[in-house]
Amino acid sequence: MSFAKLGLKEPILRGVADAGYEQPTDIQANAIPKILRGAELIGLGQTGSGKTAAFGLPMLNRLCGGEPGLRGLIIVPTRELCVQVAENLRTYAKYTGLHVCTAFGGVDMSIQESAFKRGVDVVVACPGRLIDHLERRNLSLEKVEMVVLDESDRMLDMGFMPQIRRIFVRLPQERQNLLFSATMPEEVEGLVADFLPNAERVQIGTRSQSAKTISHRFASVAAADKAHALETLLRREDGKVLIFVNKKLGCERLGNQLKRAGLPADSIHGDKGAEARHVCLQAFTRGKVRFLVATDVAARGIDVDDVTLVVNYDFPLGLEDYIHRTGRTGRAGRSGRALSLVAPMERRLYEMVAGHLAGKKVANAPKAPGRGYGMPKKRSGDGPRGKSRGKPGGRSRSRAASASS
Ligand code: AMP
Repeated sequence: MSFAKLGLKEPILRGVADAGYEQPTDIQANAIPKILRGAELIGLGQTGSGKTAAFGLPMLNRLCGGEPGLRGLIIVPTRELCVQVAENLRTYAKYTGLHVCTAFGGVDMSIQESAFKRGVDVVVACPGRLIDHLERRNLSLEKVEMVVLDESDRMLDMGFMPQIRRIFVRLPQERQNLLFSATMPEEVEGLVADFLPNAERVQIGTRSQSAKTISHRFASVAAADKAHALETLLRREDGKVLIFVNKKLGCERLGNQLKRAGLPADSIHGDKGAEARHVCLQAFTRGKVRFLVATDVAARGIDVDDVTLVVNYDFPLGLEDYIHRTGRTGRAGRSGRALSLVAPMERRLYEMVAGHLAGKKVANAPKAPGRGYGMPKKRSGDGPRGKSRGKPGGRSRSRAASASS
């Protein structure tokens, strides 16, 4: 299957070639012909499955050669995703003459307003900032023909439902709606029932499925030993590692700790300003920072293809988060690894995820350390850092279970 056979116009095909894509991914091959036919669509794809082009290419195809003006709207949950989706679209749109603008918070509104004035055909927007622009009449949605809700599961998790409703009442009745989501929890089904009742579904793999290219390993580590275990692990890694924590404060603290240990590390979380987050992401993309500590929300838009390992420093609080996090590696058909450090109090969460991955035969933690990820031994001279440190058998506390797909 080639992109040319999907029915895309010539300028779009040139943009796709510039992006370096040779063949459509599964979701693209499935979704693009349907969207080009004008169908409403719910795209359920594994993380890293190529969703952006799956909706971006047919949108640009529809707008290409038409009247100028805002006719395509893409709503995303985070500013990082906003920037990345817009960057991808600009590459695809290079030969179309279409203008792609962004609207996200944390930066001066007037810069975005000036960009709209220079000409805008597609806006990629976070809900809150889009509403601000609409209220100031910097933008009008009255000519919008196509709307995409991207990462809908995350959008609802972040409490954006009221804003989404406010945006939808400003849209023309006649329009094509697309909804993309990595997972399909009940709230998203509710959104679908309200806005896309007759949509076709394109589903790749089973629901809430983790990419097949990711191997999943779990190591049992006492909470007080996690930082030391991580540091030792990172010293052996020569690729890019994304480390997830559950809280912003812990994120900053762990990032600083790794930096002080002399590792090329940094942290990204919601309390950092837009500029600082952008600089941090650039450094990670370029490999200047190889170990990035992130919260779930801050990591949403990270579109770095060569993350070799995802570490769950804190175990995610739900299955969906586990899938989103580990989906940051093993992207676009590459293989990736996920390692979760499981403290005794996180055991239940681990069992829930392990149960879900059961098809991949995740074992309960065996006694012997897992090959390749044997947790670090206690260094002589280390003082006790937690209650459990220094007890006999401290080394064997770091037991690993591993499962590779
Ligand atoms: P996405 O799921 O849209 O975030 O895409 C994940 C990664 O796959 C991005 O880096 C895309 O540039 C890349 N990608 C998307 N479609 C293709 C394709 N057909 N061939 C190669 N890479 C692709």
